[in-house]
Amino acid sequence: MNYQQILENIYQEIQPYAQVGKQADYIPALAKVNPDQFGICINTVQGETFMLGDATTSFSIQSISKVFLLAMCLSIEGDGLWRRVGKEPSGTAFNSLIQLEVEKGTPRNPFINAGAIVLTDILLKHSKHPKEDFLRFVRRLSGNNSISYDEEVAQSEREKSYLNAAIANLLKYHHNIENDIEEVLYFYFLQCSIGMDCYDLSKAFLPFANHRRPFEYGEISLTSSQVKRINAIMQTCGFYDEAGEFSYLVGLPGKSGVGGGIAAIHPLRYSVAVWSPRLNQKGNSVMGIKALELLTTETQESIF
Ligand code: GLN
Repeated sequence: MNYQQILENIYQEIQPYAQVGKQADYIPALAKVNPDQFGICINTVQGETFMLGDATTSFSIQSISKVFLLAMCLSIEGDGLWRRVGKEPSGTAFNSLIQLEVEKGTPRNPFINAGAIVLTDILLKHSKHPKEDFLRFVRRLSGNNSISYDEEVAQSEREKSYLNAAIANLLKYHHNIENDIEEVLYFYFLQCSIGMDCYDLSKAFLPFANHRRPFEYGEISLTSSQVKRINAIMQTCGFYDEAGEFSYLVGLPGKSGVGGGIAAIHPLRYSVAVWSPRLNQKGNSVMGIKALELLTTETQESIF
């Protein structure tokens, strides 16, 4: 498959969307990013790489970090995890409080904020050096040791953390957080603040595409069945209240973040990361979704 030519075609075809949407500004540090950027990178399981545009410009991965968090927690806690968080699509916004109140503090899934905040609490319980362990895992997955937290982004989110603080308080009220709320939230913001480029991110997702290879990164290891189940949750829950639309248009498991990034995988073929900061109403990258829709349409390759 000539992915490079396909990426070049896609780049032309998405130009009409270049000014649609706007970047997240509820995290003040993200409002400073130049919104007119676009990058994409594909890494195949055979080891080829195809890139285009701003594919080596670092951006804030935000909620894409929730996939790494779930992988770590599944490795550490196994199925016990599912006592504290569900695996059903939420159909609501990533930072919604409504279901959490009705469902008495059990988040619908690990890829909405409430679910990731519970998983952050689990990681804090199990690890003596959680911040170092999390970063080491992401560095190992991507093979890039210079990946870091962006403390400015994390601090900026902390200063405006009203909704996430409300979520954490509701979780604590329902005994689904053990640690100190402030500590849990700051570690959660740090995970979201990690800076990666499309190349790094695509590399970091390749092990999720390649579930026949052993998933072993330091002390974190998953069975092939666990990797496939993470993909299942990406398929059903990776895009909040737009998960159905993404599945319909793109047909790949994936995860988005409000930094404008999306990582997706085609099992046993490739991982792809795309980034463009302008978001739609649901908090997902406009050009990112369009590019992936065109990718699976033009290659005629989706999981269906
Ligand atoms: N840090 C962001 C938040 O908690 C992540 C949200 C996202 O990327 N969808 O609001």
